[in-house]
Amino acid sequence: MTTETAPVLRVEIDAARCQGHGRCVVLAPELFTLDTLGDALVVGDGTVPPDLQAKATLAKANCPEYAIRFARD
Ligand code: SF4
Repeated sequence: MTTETAPVLRVEIDAARCQGHGRCVVLAPELFTLDTLGDALVVGDGTVPPDLQAKATLAKANCPEYAIRFARD
């Protein structure tokens, strides 16, 4: 029997696109934070726990600059 692990979802911020609206932080504060200039950073390495995937999707859909990307390891 093989044991397959589900791909790990991670969020990434394209710093060149982020304009610092902070919507992502409001919608998913467990996954995003702001730096001292008000631009978004991912919390930790950006790994999204299964119970936060809906919030990650919501934040991605509501970023007006399309600065949030999903990556799967
Ligand atoms: S919503 Fe998008 S543009 Fe705004 S802070 Fe978050 S990543 Fe940056």
